[in-house]
Amino acid sequence: MSTKTVLCSAGISHLLLYPNGDVYRCMADYNARRAPLFNAKEGWKTLERPTECPHDTCYAACDLDWTKKWVFEGSDPVPQTIQPQSYTVNPTGIEAWAAQTLDRPLANMAHIVWAPSLLCNYDCRYCGCAVGAHEIHKDFLSAAPELSVGEWVAVWKEILGRYDFGIVSITGGEPLLSRATLPVLKLLSDQFRVSITSNLSTNVFGLVRDLPQPKGGRTGLKLIVASLHLTAKAFDRDAFLAKVLYLKHNGISTMINFVGHPLQLFLADDFKQWCKTHDVPFVLSPWYGRDNDGFEAVYTEAERSYLDKVAPAHRKSHTQLEFRSYRYLVKTETSRVTAAPGELIAIKGTIQNTGTRSWSAAADDDKPFAIGAMLYPAGETRKWLRHFKYPLSKSEVLPQDECDIEIECATEGLARGVYMLKVGLIREDGLWFENKGNEPSTVDIELGLNAFPENATVSCELLDAAVPVVCERDTIYSARVRARNTGSVEWFSKRYDEEIQLGCRLFQGAFEFSDVSLRDMRAYPATPVMPGETLEADITLDFSNIPSGGYSLVFDLVNERKYWFRDKGSQPLIKPITIL
Ligand code: SF4
Ligand code: SF4
Repeated sequence: MSTKTVLCSAGISHLLLYPNGDVYRCMADYNARRAPLFNAKEGWKTLERPTECPHDTCYAACDLDWTKKWVFEGSDPVPQTIQPQSYTVNPTGIEAWAAQTLDRPLANMAHIVWAPSLLCNYDCRYCGCAVGAHEIHKDFLSAAPELSVGEWVAVWKEILGRYDFGIVSITGGEPLLSRATLPVLKLLSDQFRVSITSNLSTNVFGLVRDLPQPKGGRTGLKLIVASLHLTAKAFDRDAFLAKVLYLKHNGISTMINFVGHPLQLFLADDFKQWCKTHDVPFVLSPWYGRDNDGFEAVYTEAERSYLDKVAPAHRKSHTQLEFRSYRYLVKTETSRVTAAPGELIAIKGTIQNTGTRSWSAAADDDKPFAIGAMLYPAGETRKWLRHFKYPLSKSEVLPQDECDIEIECATEGLARGVYMLKVGLIREDGLWFENKGNEPSTVDIELGLNAFPENATVSCELLDAAVPVVCERDTIYSARVRARNTGSVEWFSKRYDEEIQLGCRLFQGAFEFSDVSLRDMRAYPATPVMPGETLEADITLDFSNIPSGGYSLVFDLVNERKYWFRDKGSQPLIKPITIL
């Protein structure tokens, strides 16, 4: 098994500053809900030495762009170094981040991602910030209480005192909605290089007037990243592009960032061409995670190859760094199951560890591994209905080792239809290894869709129906009916996509087969009746609004929307009735 230790400069020369003043080491730490390093209101206390990365993958663009890594493999004392991606893309101005060493980390400069607020006025489906203030303040780490303008100014004055130079990426939420953004930007402009990522929904005239004028040298506002969110309800294409041009022509360097969510991905090239025509830099960025509709960020082959064609080298789908490889090969004994709604579906198979790390199932382990299964409606393969978790059948699965899997999928409450079950490896911290490029096994489930067998016979013997001979007008009766199943298939079974019911029709006068019924009633029994068994069921006879006179009640079994059993040769039970 390969052992890799990754030391990283995150927490020293790359930090995230959140709305309540909490400071995180990197985006991966924030997303994994790890504790902040410190709170900026209590002083600026960064890490002093490169520290081990606790994550399996370094995936967030800002983390990849701004951190240097030293990767130690096995007992080799010489590490492989991985430079910040922004340095490999364009080294100008980033040299100090690349030049730091394990012994001499960068102490007098830092890249800081600052989110003054996580609130936003847009509703992008792929962004947690779209869920509204209530959820953000309740569920988002370090989102509230937001620091006041005065507190932010004090915090940033202390940061300015700590560093000779800094690079600040202002983001959010929508940062231009925060009253602190512009005062802090002005404060930073003489000493730090600043960029803002904005959806440009606010007043750009004010922005151009209020922002410090662009100037030469390495400090000041250097870039506005205009974040393009086509599928947000408030997005106005023409207004957005007009604002990009307005900023550009007023001397503010502006680029468009396009989020590669699958629903808008294939329009990226249109905007890239527009940018080319208007000499505006364009970046398509991959999208990770799960959106607010429950869609998973697992690109299809078509999506991946489109993204890789349009995105720049450092934003392609394979640019994340995987430090620990968790690969698997899962096989199920079947790829198709038919069952009745409510049945428990059992599926067996095996899963092989084809990665380089072992999987522990121990409950006291920090992150025990398990088998996960997700149930989707057919055709909605990114939006799950239910998910299940099963323990591994071995306490530890070593690389190349295999273990049995046994899955039980509950179907109660599911409607008849076609479903898909995905089976793969998961970890207690919510990680689905499918999202790391693994291929889960899929099982199609047909629930209650069987037709009757070809040689099936349907027939009944109607034994009795307890109905009055005479009844008052506008009355409702309950009649007990007995009918024997003389065919070869069970009635009222959820196993079949055939809807057998006990029916009773009301006809005027003596019954003629050519007559049209005045009323059509059903009993709706629920318990299956097997061939040879007798059904006893109550059927409600509703005579309301039926005029006085002589009628016929005709009892029969019916296969809804297909046929009455009489059409298949059975004798209906006919009862004359007089309504007074
Ligand atoms: S390698 Fe990436 S994920 Fe790990 S600590 Fe550094 S920035 Fe964070
Ligand atoms: S504009 Fe940006 S912050 Fe706002 S909802 Fe969309 S992605 Fe999120």
